[in-house]
Order: sequence, then structure tokens, then C-alpha cells
Amino acid sequence: GRLVAGLTKTRDNIVSGIDSIFSGFSSIDDDFYEEIEEILIMGDLGVKATEEIIENLKAKVKENKIKEPAACKQLLIDSIKEQMRVEDTAYRFEEEKSVVLVIGVNGVGKTTTVGKLAGKLKDQGRKVVIAAADTFRAAAGDQLAEWANRAGVEMIGGQEGADPASVVFDAVASAKSKGADVLLCDTAGRLHNKKNLMEELRKMNRIIDREFPDAYRETLVVLDATTGQNALSQAKQFGEVADITGIVLTKMDGTAKGGIAVAIQSELNIPVKYIGVGETIEDLQKFDADEFVNALFK
Ligand code: GDP
Repeated sequence: GRLVAGLTKTRDNIVSGIDSIFSGFSSIDDDFYEEIEEILIMGDLGVKATEEIIENLKAKVKENKIKEPAACKQLLIDSIKEQMRVEDTAYRFEEEKSVVLVIGVNGVGKTTTVGKLAGKLKDQGRKVVIAAADTFRAAAGDQLAEWANRAGVEMIGGQEGADPASVVFDAVASAKSKGADVLLCDTAGRLHNKKNLMEELRKMNRIIDREFPDAYRETLVVLDATTGQNALSQAKQFGEVADITGIVLTKMDGTAKGGIAVAIQSELNIPVKYIGVGETIEDLQKFDADEFVNALFK
């Protein structure tokens, strides 16, 4: 129920328009497809993904010899689901000993997401340690400490301006000595200096490789759904400096731009693993593309 409730605006943005097309057209022609295309692009699905969805829809209409516009709706739903297909959607860090790096630019909800994730993993009976490795921002560590407290997990931090890799080093040592299952690293995301960012991530990865070689590795990028196409662009830029294994799309509650999930999975072939649907510790949900599309067209 919550997924659907959280998506109200995205749904209104896309589906009300789509429905009026399906009922307003009496035959399937170029105008029909163009209007669907326009709505999907306005719904933040992205130009590239939308064009491929429309091509797929046309092929399905032809193959199934469909004549009625209304009969296209299910085919459109299927086309969007196919467009969102990605290879690896597993949540291995929920099962195995893992180190999870969390990356994202300021303000997207990175700290909040680390806190929510810590709470979620803790509830699953996992022993969690948080590394506050985003040492660039003065308040970041304090804010994260509050979340760690709320989640009931340990946090290892450093002074403002400390070397993030040294924080990771300390946190790995702590995680190992305490027999933790998951080390969550809140890392930086200063995209405007990609060379530094890359170097910083490389340094952290080297330490984890050396000190915690048997840990499963996950790199999550946090993106703010309300920024629409900008979120897609950030994901692409982070993809240039890190091996991203999953996306967290925050602020899905109340945005009309939730369609960006389609663009992200389609263009990057990386799964959206979680969505943020509010500001409290419970407001992080696993994302399932089929469920998402079904909810949109409900
Ligand atoms: P950071 O700078 O990336 O670490 O961002 P924060 O975690 O401090 O979050 C920035 C703001 O976004 C805060 O006011 C959070 O409460 C809010 N926020 C984070 N995630 C969500 C979400 O999923 N939904 C909503 N509505 N707000 C969120």
C-alpha cells in the first residue's frame, strides 16, 4: 500500500494523461504514439528509454494485430517493464559479510539513507558498523551519529577534514574485531572534482581489499528523485569513477518525477535497489521494477 501511496504524484503525472489517450483515440496512428511518447518524456522516463519503449510497443501492436487503442495499455506496461530489466538485482549484502560504500552529492539524502539502511539491517538481525567517512562536512558526522544512535549501531568517525581512508581503516578494524556482518561507509560525493573523488574512492577500496578481503562489496549511489534528469546525469558521472552496484532513489514521496527510475535502470543497467519515501527510519523500501510499473498503472 505504501509504495502506491508514495507514488501518487508520479502516477497522476503519467497515467491520467495516458488513460485519456487510450480512451480519446479511435485508431492507432502516428499521433497516438506521439502523444504517448510526449507523456512518457514529461514523466521523466528520459528520451532514450521512451523511444525504445515506443518502438517495442509498436512491434507488440503489430505482432498481436491490435487495432483498438485501449488494448495497447497492457502492451505499454509490458514494454516499460522490459525496458527496466537489469541483470543483477540481488541484495547479497543482506546475507553475506559485506562492506557497503554509499556515495552521493550533498543534500540528496545520503546520511538519512545510511541511517535507514543501518536500522533495516539491524532489524534483520545483522551486526552493523557505520563509518562516517564523509569528513569534509562539519555537521555530517554529528548527524550520522544521531542516526547510528537511533538505529542502535556503532559508528566510527574522524575529525572534520580527516583522511576518509583512515576512517575506513579504523572502521574496518572495529568491524572485524566486533565480528560485524555489515560495514556501511558514508563516503563523499564531490562530483565537481572527479579526479579527487576517484582517488579518494580508490584509496578506500584499496584499504578494504587489503584489510577485509573476504567481504562482499557493494557500492550504492544515492540520488534525489525530485531532481529528475539531473539525478540521471549524476548517476552517469558517478559511474565514471566507481563500479556502482545499486541506486537508492530518495524523496520518492511527493515527487511527480518518479519516472526517472525507468530512465536510470534503462540507461545504466544498474538496479534501483531502494527508494526513500519519507524522513523516518522506516521510510526505506526495496524497489521492484515490475511492482513499480504495476503501481503506476493501477
Ligand atoms: P545528505 O546531505 O545527502 O546527507 O542529505 P540528508 O540525509 O541530510 O537529507 C537531506 C534532507 O532530505 C533531509 O531534510 C532529509 O530529511 C530529507 N530526506 C532524505 N531522504 C528523504 C526521503 O526519502 N523523503 C523525504 N521526503 N525526505 C528525505
